[in-house]
Amino acid sequence: MNGKPMWCPPARTRSYAVPIAPVEDNAAEQAALLAEAAQLVRAGIRAGLVQAPKPAKQNELGPSSVWATCVGCQGQFSRHLASVQPKCSSCRLEKKCCKNCREMFQPTYHRQVTCGEDCRRNLMQATAMYRRKPWVVVACENCGAEFEKAPASPRKNCGQACGFASMVRKIKKK
Ligand SMILES: [Zn+2]
Ligand SMILES: [Zn+2]
Ligand SMILES: [Zn+2]
Repeated sequence: MNGKPMWCPPARTRSYAVPIAPVEDNAAEQAALLAEAAQLVRAGIRAGLVQAPKPAKQNELGPSSVWATCVGCQGQFSRHLASVQPKCSSCRLEKKCCKNCREMFQPTYHRQVTCGEDCRRNLMQATAMYRRKPWVVVACENCGAEFEKAPASPRKNCGQACGFASMVRKIKKK
């Protein structure tokens, strides 16, 4: 703020404030308007005048992005029209020391701490929380393939792709 105390009407004048318009009438009117609008939209969809927006796909570009070739891995990545970024997001990450085998590796995502799936599992199994109970084999929610997880883990899918697929299905169901 500007350092001055906030203004508020003196107590004796508060009772003279303009009364708020009754809510009920307004609410009923608005509900009727909304219902009419919904009917209009439905009629528009039936007549083909209105089209529901399609959800953007993972591999589709937004209106202000372009595909570019990464100088590091020669792979394709999307960047902003005005950007001159030469590397994809994973090539921009610095090499890290694996928390399990202590070897340097190139991470592909920001929070990665181990060099691969084996090291990730070994590290988790070594953690006290995961050491208490043996890992269990469960079926993937999406593809039905069996995979191992710690009993405390909330994992329901065998991998990132299946997780994404079942997430999309859940959103579509709603
Ligand atoms: Zn790259
Ligand atoms: Zn490792
Ligand atoms: Zn799966």
